[in-house]
Amino acid sequence: MKKSYDVAVFHGDGIGPEIMAPTLEILHQLSRGSPSYELVFTDAPAGAGHYAKTGESFPAGSLETARNADAILLSAMGLPDVRYPDGTEISPQIDLRKQLGLFAGVRPVKVSSRQMTPLALPPGKEIDFVLIRESTEGLFFTQGAGEVTEHEARETLLITREVSEKLFRFAFELAQNRKRTGRGRGRVTCVDKANVFRAFAFFRSMFDAEAANHPELQADHAYVDATALWMVQKPWEFDVLVTENMFGDILSDLGAGLMGGLGLAPSADIGLNHAVFQPCHGSAPDIAGQAIANPFAMILSAAMMLEWLGLTHDHPELSNDGARLREAVEKVTANGQNLTRDLGGTTGTQDAASSVLEALRA
Ligand code: ATP
Repeated sequence: MKKSYDVAVFHGDGIGPEIMAPTLEILHQLSRGSPSYELVFTDAPAGAGHYAKTGESFPAGSLETARNADAILLSAMGLPDVRYPDGTEISPQIDLRKQLGLFAGVRPVKVSSRQMTPLALPPGKEIDFVLIRESTEGLFFTQGAGEVTEHEARETLLITREVSEKLFRFAFELAQNRKRTGRGRGRVTCVDKANVFRAFAFFRSMFDAEAANHPELQADHAYVDATALWMVQKPWEFDVLVTENMFGDILSDLGAGLMGGLGLAPSADIGLNHAVFQPCHGSAPDIAGQAIANPFAMILSAAMMLEWLGLTHDHPELSNDGARLREAVEKVTANGQNLTRDLGGTTGTQDAASSVLEALRA
């Protein structure tokens, strides 16, 4: 009997539905071909388009669908022209992070030796590290609610023991798992600014406490400014980096830059009981409706979902299919044909996704 997994699907706005459709097609094919698992998809309406149509951006029923699912697949969401009356953008993905306690933003940065990158990689060097961005507090704590008077403005940076301990446990477990599967050396780096801010000294002390539980892993620290430099000078030395929300926000875009752009950058927001998988990029309204969006970040996010489901449910075939799907995208990007315009090619969304399916079957 096949084991069944429920996946909540947010189709998104702008290019969101255009990249979600071929991704779901690939997942359907994997599910149909699997002897051991079945993926069952449930649509969860939400987003800027839904708000424009109904006056509701994130219906309670959609949150319920997400809460009940084994995993959540979410495409790019929000539109600059559709906003709440107070001028803020519609972002159900941020509501989900808060509602489901998704404290770990996981941003893998992977560039194989044959792949295009703005860096000149030394022979034999590849980039393969994961940046973990705390996603519920830090300098985003007062997001949208900072105090502004005529003379000054204040925002609050919040670091709590509760969230930090969960975050560091997650980071070390991830490093352990990467080491076990041959993807990492078992090194975790705490990225902070502990030389200037007491809050980051506190952050670092909890990192050190967790590190003491993992003598088999290497643990070290780096200041955020030095990390930005090293991400350009010697990114192949990193394995797992863990950092505060705002630092992670900035460094993850630098990571996407190393991969040749946002069109190749997947992400996951993971909590103790739920996880959302989504591309790092936005809904790209400037190219929506033209069938030219790059679907690879969405497909790589779906691959991360399969790997995570396999790991959390101890289902190796699911993890293997996730790894195979990731490798299929890597094969297509390394090959340099069938690339979309953002990567220097001329291929449309559907054909780019079809080439991944072909690579998967090969
Ligand atoms: P957000 O603030 O919602 O993250 P953003 O304003 O940073 O969004 P994006 O929507 O990510 O912007 O788009 C930034 C640029 O990258 C745009 O020119 C867009 O066309 C391009 N872009 C983003 N995603 C893709 C994609 N999947 N394929 C091709 N181009 C993309």
